[in-house]
Amino acid sequence: MRHGLEWQSCLQLADGVTSTLLDRATGELVRVRSRYIIACDGAGSTVRDSLGIAMDGPEGIANFMTIHFEANLRSILGDYLGILYFLFGPGLNGTLIAYDVEKTWVLMHPCSPDSTPEDFDEATCRAAILAAVGVPVPDLQIKGVKGWKMSAQIARTYRDGNVFLAGDAGHRFPPTGGLGLNTGIGDIDNLAWKIAAVEAGWAAPEMLESYEPERRIIAQTNMGQSLANTFRLGVLFEALGYGADRTVDEATFRSRLADPESRTKIDEAVTFQKDHFDSLRLQLGFAYGDVLKDDDTLPISQFTPKCVVGARLPHVEFADGRSTLELVDPNGLTLIAGAMAGDLTALAAGLKAPLIQKTEGADFHVPGEAWSARMGLEPQGAVLVRPDGHILAITSSGGAEGVQHLAAALSTYLATPVAAALTGVA
Ligand SMILES: Cc1cc2nc3c(=O)[nH]c(=O)nc-3n(C[C@H](O)[C@H](O)[C@H](O)COP(=O)(O)OP(=O)(O)OC[C@H]3O[C@@H](n4cnc5c(N)ncnc54)[C@H](O)[C@@H]3O)c2cc1C
Repeated sequence: MRHGLEWQSCLQLADGVTSTLLDRATGELVRVRSRYIIACDGAGSTVRDSLGIAMDGPEGIANFMTIHFEANLRSILGDYLGILYFLFGPGLNGTLIAYDVEKTWVLMHPCSPDSTPEDFDEATCRAAILAAVGVPVPDLQIKGVKGWKMSAQIARTYRDGNVFLAGDAGHRFPPTGGLGLNTGIGDIDNLAWKIAAVEAGWAAPEMLESYEPERRIIAQTNMGQSLANTFRLGVLFEALGYGADRTVDEATFRSRLADPESRTKIDEAVTFQKDHFDSLRLQLGFAYGDVLKDDDTLPISQFTPKCVVGARLPHVEFADGRSTLELVDPNGLTLIAGAMAGDLTALAAGLKAPLIQKTEGADFHVPGEAWSARMGLEPQGAVLVRPDGHILAITSSGGAEGVQHLAAALSTYLATPVAAALTGVA
């Protein structure tokens, strides 16, 4: 890996991509040949733009100047320590982000669409920080200023030939809800093992076509939630007396805080912001396919792990304190089987993928109710798990029948024939 190289353009060939990169230190152009490109070059992705992939959805819903500064705010904050500070009050309406309470901060300061970083000189930044923090900040150092447009967009396609988009290159959300980076990590988690499997020869290149339908819908859900969270803040602004222009005068603001009836409304509006911080179902409960569609009507904080194809393998704690999640092989396929499933590894004979089987009773023990029962399976059932921890197939029967069933599911998903070798299977 080399740092300081800027990706500039590429030429796609049938079996790979030739990229041209600029070595910023020397000014030299470097050509790199690769089988694929995973474009994770952020919301303003040069790769995406160079391929002409459009972004769908509104751009510039709101505009901010992000002021990066260094200061130790610990003594000022006292017991009010947090990661995010939503700022409300006359002349205020931004967010302070604590990357390191004693050193690194960012103030997201609302600004007009045509504001530029040059408009935010040292004095302007200092005044904005003083207003945000409320008291003079000793040892304050302004480190940088950058404009940022809040957008809610998804790339029209996640793939062009051998180039895949991932992370903010494929989707950009309002930060309300903290779903952006998590969605990007999910993209890579989904794509990396597939590329590795194709390159290792245990899946056909066609399997890579599952990346976009699986991940794009997750981005759509998370973008919708991030937008909903942004609009939710409007309820709080209203309760605090802000007008449509998102400003409030001193008298209105103070009277809202002093009046018990208004105060109740403010408290309710604060409680209404719960979805920003409590979205376990979106963070862990997402599934590939429509299998958990019914859960969409539930609050996003409500997550009940389910053993269904496409969902993440549910966590179950073993008697020794380990989790089912620790059984999953990130480099191959994992079969987690009930106590009566028998040896299903005959599946491996018709498959080039690494495959391990972990059987209840032999490899793990669950206190109380059997693991298979907790998964809604018969003791002869088994679950086949992908390297990214999502369930690829479930069989309710063990032995030859189970092997056949799993082989058929694998053939479809890996887009390559998997012949179940049944010799010796009970
Ligand atoms: C204020 C704010 C708060 C947020 N809070 C959260 C949160 O709490 N939780 C959460 O999950 N997400 C959050 N996000 C979103 C999160 O920051 C992004 O989703 C995440 O950083 C995207 O990661 P990425 O790797 O796709 O892109 P980036 O982090 O943008 O990284 C892209 C990288 O590519 C490099 N690059 C760009 N162009 C080129 C080129 N031509 N050649 C070579 N390199 C290039 C860039 O230098 C950069 O290093 C927040 C975002 C903002 C703005």
